[in-house]
Amino acid sequence: MHELSIAHGLVEAASEAAREAGAVRVNEVRVRIGALSGVVASALHFCYEIAAAGTPLEGSRLLITELPVVIYCPHCEAEVELPSIQLFCCPVCDTPTAAIRQGREMEIESLEIEVP
Ligand SMILES: [Zn+2]
Repeated sequence: MHELSIAHGLVEAASEAAREAGAVRVNEVRVRIGALSGVVASALHFCYEIAAAGTPLEGSRLLITELPVVIYCPHCEAEVELPSIQLFCCPVCDTPTAAIRQGREMEIESLEIEVP
């Protein structure tokens, strides 16, 4: 389950950011994961609790925003959201495109911390 190593990385990065901000606890972590990141939200939730145990993040909320894939269609000259990650074609005009503009994200969006 690669979500466990991702969760560990997430907890580490958030702990470090919290320490730098002088926080004693982290109450909430918001992350954004793209549809192409290969991260399953439910698995990440599960692994997060394990990874957060014994850290300033223990018991904190993990809020996940799932981002759809957005491609650039040269025919429409526009960024369009893909309804499925199986087909890399513009849903409007069917032009195949590999110009991915969004969907690979796996990043911390914000932290809610407790400063003494
Ligand atoms: Zn198009």
